[in-house]
Amino acid sequence: MFDKVLIANRGEIALRIHRACKEMGLATVAVHSTADRDAMHVRLADESVCIGPPSATDSYLKSAAIMAAVEVTGAQAIHPGYGFLSENARFVEIVEAHGITFIGPNASHIRLMGDKIAAKAAVRDVGIPVVPGSDGGVASAEDAIRIGNEIGYPVLVKASSGGGGRGMKVAKNADEMAKAYNTARSEAKAAFGDDAVYIEKYLEKPRHIEIQVIADSHGNVVHLGERDCSLQRRHQKVFEEAPSPAITPEQREQIGTTVVNAIKKLGYLGVGTIEFLYENGEFYFIEMNTRLQVEHPVTEMITRIDLVKEQIRIAQGEKLSFTQEDVPFIGHAIECRINAEHPQTFAPSPGLIKEFHAPGGLGVRLDSAAYAGYKIPPYYDSLIGKLIVHGVTREECLLRLKRALGEMVISGVETTLPLHQRLVNDADVNAGDYDIHWLERFLSNTEA
Ligand code: ADP
Repeated sequence: MFDKVLIANRGEIALRIHRACKEMGLATVAVHSTADRDAMHVRLADESVCIGPPSATDSYLKSAAIMAAVEVTGAQAIHPGYGFLSENARFVEIVEAHGITFIGPNASHIRLMGDKIAAKAAVRDVGIPVVPGSDGGVASAEDAIRIGNEIGYPVLVKASSGGGGRGMKVAKNADEMAKAYNTARSEAKAAFGDDAVYIEKYLEKPRHIEIQVIADSHGNVVHLGERDCSLQRRHQKVFEEAPSPAITPEQREQIGTTVVNAIKKLGYLGVGTIEFLYENGEFYFIEMNTRLQVEHPVTEMITRIDLVKEQIRIAQGEKLSFTQEDVPFIGHAIECRINAEHPQTFAPSPGLIKEFHAPGGLGVRLDSAAYAGYKIPPYYDSLIGKLIVHGVTREECLLRLKRALGEMVISGVETTLPLHQRLVNDADVNAGDYDIHWLERFLSNTEA
């Protein structure tokens, strides 16, 4: 058992975790770089510790600095949030070697899922459908061409250590293969220090649909339905919804059951997300994220389950307080990621927020650590908040989202709010008729 939690993150997610801790009667410790002294999570936490200069490598990614903050404050548990050290197996081992609880999965599962070739083989062995492709890593351009010919073009060369869409190259035919293979390898080596690559059939019009799972240390596993995150730019999610407008309750139950059985066999602990591409009625695994996702609130809105509180309870050794049958899927939820970026060029726009007005009313939630007078530092990602809206039906949810976006004001910096205004008024978005390439097409058709 623990009663003081150190939050090893910043921004909206640090605040999100702080809120869950306070509602559970737990004390919180914020850590921050010198650039984040005035951040909301630092102001609200019970204690705070400066862990280094602005550069994330010297602060939020520095395990020694975080462990020193644990030592001085007497925190007994660490919540890593998403990004930074959340999927770093070595960090988990360090935390546990110090007798501190890591609020998340075991190091072994983080390591397994971080190696995409191994992850794909492991999930296939426990019954999860995967994208057709190479059986493991591909050692030469000649092998790549042979495999491409076997599975049929177009194909995608992907980095085993990949993340954020980097180290991925499409080959439309055998002539393009050697180049795609070599470029993916050198990009992967430069970005991840690992040039292992594998090949997958390139799906032309899939949706990105992911299943949220939750597992306690007593062998109970439950799925919390899906999120549709198909609206992406450069493989980064922009707008997410639950449930997916593309699948039926029967399909949800089927894929959910497959995932639950697989997760039981893997002996996974905590919350996790199995990401799939979905095309022509079939699901194809692409990766598993062993952490809380940015878009977790849409699941919370339709299931009424607080995922961060559940993570904490699981870390304290408690049993899940609900069974699969208890999980309701109520209405519809949509999340808009609001970034401090130019809405057309997507150039980052750090700086002083002059005015900040949050929308409100029934079914409206804003997860943001920003406020009027806050200066967005240029060193980190550009997410300033997530607007999450719930409605009884998808139609009501969209109308509410339109209304809430209309109330929201952020001035002083550029934001992606105008992009969301356009999306919510678009006929395809209203019809739920989009795939993972839709947003890129929409943006290139409407370039200023
Ligand atoms: P990363 O870890 O870099 O995010 P993923 O494997 O999750 O890599 O893939 C990121 C995105 O790339 C997916 O959401 C999808 O848009 C695209 N993608 C991945 N695999 C395929 C595939 N086989 N065919 C088509 N698109 C793909």
